[in-house]
Order: sequence, then C-alpha cells, then structure tokens
Amino acid sequence: MSVREFDAIIIGAGQAGPSLAGRLNDAGMKVAIVERHLVGGTCVNTGCKPTKTLVASAYAAHTARRGGEYGFSLNGPVEIDMPAVAARARKVILDSRAGNETWLAGMANVELIRGHARFVSANTVMVDGRELTAPRIFINVGGRAVVPDMPGASEVPLLTNTDMVALDTLPRHLIIIGGSYIGLEFAQMYRRFGAEVTIVERMDRLIAREDPDVSEEVRAILEREGVTVRTGADCIGFKSHDGGIAVSIDCDEDSKPVIGSHVLMAVGRRPNTDDLGLEAAGIVTDARGYITVDDRLQTNLPDVYALGDCNGRGAFTHTAYNDFEIVAANLLDGEDRRVSQRLTGYALYIDPPLGRVGMTEAEAVKTGRRLFHSKRAMARVGRAVEKGESQGFMKIVADADTHRILGAAILGTGGDEAIHGILDMMNADQSIDTLRWAVPVHPTVSELVPTLLLDLKPFGSAEDE
Ligand SMILES: Cc1cc2nc3c(=O)[nH]c(=O)nc-3n(C[C@H](O)[C@H](O)[C@H](O)COP(=O)(O)OP(=O)(O)OC[C@H]3O[C@@H](n4cnc5c(N)ncnc54)[C@H](O)[C@@H]3O)c2cc1C
Repeated sequence: MSVREFDAIIIGAGQAGPSLAGRLNDAGMKVAIVERHLVGGTCVNTGCKPTKTLVASAYAAHTARRGGEYGFSLNGPVEIDMPAVAARARKVILDSRAGNETWLAGMANVELIRGHARFVSANTVMVDGRELTAPRIFINVGGRAVVPDMPGASEVPLLTNTDMVALDTLPRHLIIIGGSYIGLEFAQMYRRFGAEVTIVERMDRLIAREDPDVSEEVRAILEREGVTVRTGADCIGFKSHDGGIAVSIDCDEDSKPVIGSHVLMAVGRRPNTDDLGLEAAGIVTDARGYITVDDRLQTNLPDVYALGDCNGRGAFTHTAYNDFEIVAANLLDGEDRRVSQRLTGYALYIDPPLGRVGMTEAEAVKTGRRLFHSKRAMARVGRAVEKGESQGFMKIVADADTHRILGAAILGTGGDEAIHGILDMMNADQSIDTLRWAVPVHPTVSELVPTLLLDLKPFGSAEDE
C-alpha cells in the first residue's frame, strides 16, 4: 500500500482545523485535513449556529405574544410553523457549511480527505484503508453528547442536540435531562414554540457552576414562562409508556414519573478520542479521554498537537479558535503564546442571556483575597426598562487590594454583548478605577457598568447587605 506524504495532517474540520489549514497553506505547506462527517463540526452543524437561529425564532414568537405590552395586537394567536422554523435553521447550517467547504477548496496546498482518521503510529494515520504520513499532526476531533447508562436508557428513544436541531415537529411534552447550558437553551426555546417542557436536574440547582443567585434567577426566568424545573433528581430512569416515555425522577417510592413525548439528553459531552487509535501512537489522555496537552497545546509527543474541545482546556467555539491562534502564532510567527494567558468568557443564550467572564463570586471567595463586589438589578437599568426586558441583574467582583476585576455576570437583556466591556478591561489588565472613568453611550446596558463600580462594597463587611 502506498503511503501519501504531507507536511501536516489535521484531523477534524471543526472550529480550529480549517483556520489552521489556511495558515499552513499560506506558509507553503502541503496539508491533508481529514473529516469523517460534516465540515464545520459541532458548532456549524449541530451546536451554536442552529441553536442560536432557533433561539431567535423563539424570541420573535415570544415578543409577538407580548404585543399587548408594547401596544399592538395580532389578528389571532401566534402559531408556530415548525417546518419553517427548522428550515430557517437548516439554511443557516447549509450556508455556513458550504462557506467552509468553499474556503477549504480555495486553499491550493490543502486537500480535504473524507473519512475517519485513526493513528497507526506517531506520524501516520489510516483513513479508510489509505495511509497518510506527516512530520506534524494536529488533532481537532471535538466531542459528542454523552448518553449515560441510566436505568432503561437503552430501551426508549432518547434525543441529543443533533436530533433536536433536525426536529421539524413540536414535541407535546419535552423532558430535558440536564439543567445546564445546552439543556436550558432548548428548554426555553421549545416552551416558546408551544411545547410543555420539564427540566430534570440531578444537582440541587440549575447551572450549578454559577453562583447560587444566578441559578435562582435563571430558574425564575424559565418558570415564569411555564417551564417545570425538577432539581435534586436522584433516581433518573426511563420506561416506555402509552403516552410516550415515563421518566422517574426521585428515589422516593411515592414520587410519580413524568410522562413526556420526547426526552432530550443534555448531561454533558465527551471527547471523540475513543476511536482515534491514540494508543498506537502512544498519545496520552486523562481518565475521561481528553488528550493531555501542555500550555502550548503540544501532546506528550513533540510534533502532535491537540486543539479544541478534545483537549479539555475549553468547551467553546471561541476557545477552539483561540487554540488555533496559539498554535499558529507559536509555529509560524515565532511567538510564545500559551493557553494559561486566556481569559475565558462565555454566554448562556436563554432570554435574557447570561454573559460571564472570569471567576464566579464563590470562586473569588475561595482565593482568600480581600474582595469588593457590587450587584444591580436590571430593573434599575434604563435600557432594559425601555425595552420591556428587565429581568435579571449584573454583578462584579474585584480584588480590593489590586483593584483588578476578578469576574462578572450580566444576566439581562444584551448581557452577552455588554459583558465584553468588562472582558476587554480584564484582558488589558486595567483596574476598576480606569473602567469607572469610562464615558459609555446612553442608553445602553453597558453604561451601567461604571455605575455598578460606584456601588462596590467590601465583601462580607458591615456595609455589605
Ligand atoms: C447544542 C450546542 C450548542 C452550543 N452552543 C455554543 C455557543 O453558543 N457558543 C460556543 O462558543 N460554543 C457552543 N457550543 C460548543 C461548540 O460547538 C464547541 O465547543 C465547538 O464546536 C468545538 O470545536 P472543535 O473544533 O473542538 O470540535 P468540533 O466542532 O466538534 O469539530 C470536530 C470535527 O472532527 C471530526 N472528527 C472527529 N473524529 C474524527 C476522526 N477520527 N477522523 C476525522 N474527523 C473526525 C468531527 O466530525 C467534527 O467535524 C455548543 C455545543 C452544542 C452541542
């Protein structure tokens, strides 16, 4: 069998691979990028793009239903056309995927090879019976939804995010197992499309990584729209039922199962590293299968790098893309960039969204530093009131000695955008005093961030309520 030789092999055309292919192409390297399924990976095909498109449809329907509050009425109730909603999301997916494919096809030195790549040695991979070899290999294989081995899980149809974004019918009652970021976005959007929705969460609160006040307000936002939330679910199990699927929740014998027409599993993701032949190359992973990398994303082999979700150092499109930037800058631009320099921000795209950066307040307390903190209800943010979207709050925590911001949360209208004002200050290592003197635009959500700083109080002091 002939072995094809390249200067570099990239496994996976997700959020890091194609951009890296572009840079290596420009550097004159001969590159193979191997993709076993859909170019664009999770974000484009089953993740960020379709979900945010569906969130937009759900928001429009929700706002239309609230017409009376804004002074208009419709000629009848808002009716959801699920095939049209799904078609809109599908178009966004297809346009984006086609854009990625065209972009790759335009790279003169890059060959897109379709198939599943598996290592056979440290510098050789097998793709459907064809051997490819290169002195450098970049792994960008992403992850997939976990379907844990809960009682009855293999006996009933369970959906993942991949199934949900392809759905063009309305579930009568959608039960979502998992009250974290992915589950909550689907919960609110399907409630707004008209489904009954129940969230079943094992922990005692939703998005348990966030501060308790964030979890509580997110729960309240969803419950105000009629989403049922069942936390502390200690005995989750499934059975077929005449009316669909019976989901047991509590160990308590008197507790009745919830009957749903559809069940979405949103309990976490796992890396696509179990079928990659890593052992043949001697590439080390942790116990959960994430490829072990150093601060420059190098694996235990000097010329093999792992980027994106599969290295466990990020779980977002922007962290995968930043991995590409780090690797490209170090290999091609003579820089010394590291993952530990990255400040992670993210958002939860319910409505209103949660924008987050840096530490939670609980994490800041654990550092043992002296802290300042401040919180303001969105009901005291003019822009939110004017828009009729005043649920939520913004809050910030800072180091009382260095005056550096440690973290912030903006759960409110525009929170996913407004958080960047704080994220950028933190990235620039600027103090709260600098941010306090900014002159923001009126009326915006961002304009209240300097005001939030005027209300900073020492954490845990007598002044602190
Ligand atoms: C429902 C949902 C919503 C999300 N929303 C957001 C959001 O709003 N914002 C955000 O930042 N992130 C979001 N994410 C996360 C985001 O999608 C991922 O963090 C991002 O896609 C990771 O990029 P990646 O390049 O590491 O992997 P992926 O995008 O998963 O790409 C990996 C690629 O590798 C291919 N592959 C795997 N194994 C092999 C193999 N052996 N051979 C060849 N090819 C292989 C796969 O087919 C895939 O195309 C969301 C995820 C989900 C599930």
